[in-house]
Amino acid sequence: MFNDYVGRSIGQNTQNNGFYLFLDVVVSSWIYGNRAVPGVTRIGTLNGVPLYENPFASGSFTLPASTRDACGIYLQSASINDGDEMKHEFGHILQGEDLGLWCFYTEIAINSTKSARKSGQNGYRHQCYYTETDANSRSKTYYLFTYPDFLWNDDRFPIAPLCPGYEPRTPCSN
Ligand SMILES: [Zn+2]
Repeated sequence: MFNDYVGRSIGQNTQNNGFYLFLDVVVSSWIYGNRAVPGVTRIGTLNGVPLYENPFASGSFTLPASTRDACGIYLQSASINDGDEMKHEFGHILQGEDLGLWCFYTEIAINSTKSARKSGQNGYRHQCYYTETDANSRSKTYYLFTYPDFLWNDDRFPIAPLCPGYEPRTPCSN
């Protein structure tokens, strides 16, 4: 869900109202299914999902909701043209659709945030954490099905077999 930077920026925002605004948007997306971050700039659409520029400090994150047009992919400013990152975030939308919003918000969102905060420490790769490789796997499958010649960026957004030493698992499977 979160990339390397947003975990840290959320950690910083726990000291001020930004965190509560963020929490409000998360809960609203989950429960009510339609609430973008106030004042956010919409920059496009990906497979029916609104793309926004993340108004928080830095980082990218995704909020699945009950329908694609109520979801939101929030890209950090540096990534608004980063097709690989968008497609990774779209994998989190597919998790919400395939595994359910309860699974997404009670397990994936929480564990992904914790993982993102460890990113870069002692060589830790957040993108190899199971919540991320699962998202990559779902999105890669979607793109290869839709565009058979599609080249997924396995270096940046690996699937589980490319992450030796990281336990692969399907979220909410046990
Ligand atoms: Zn992610």
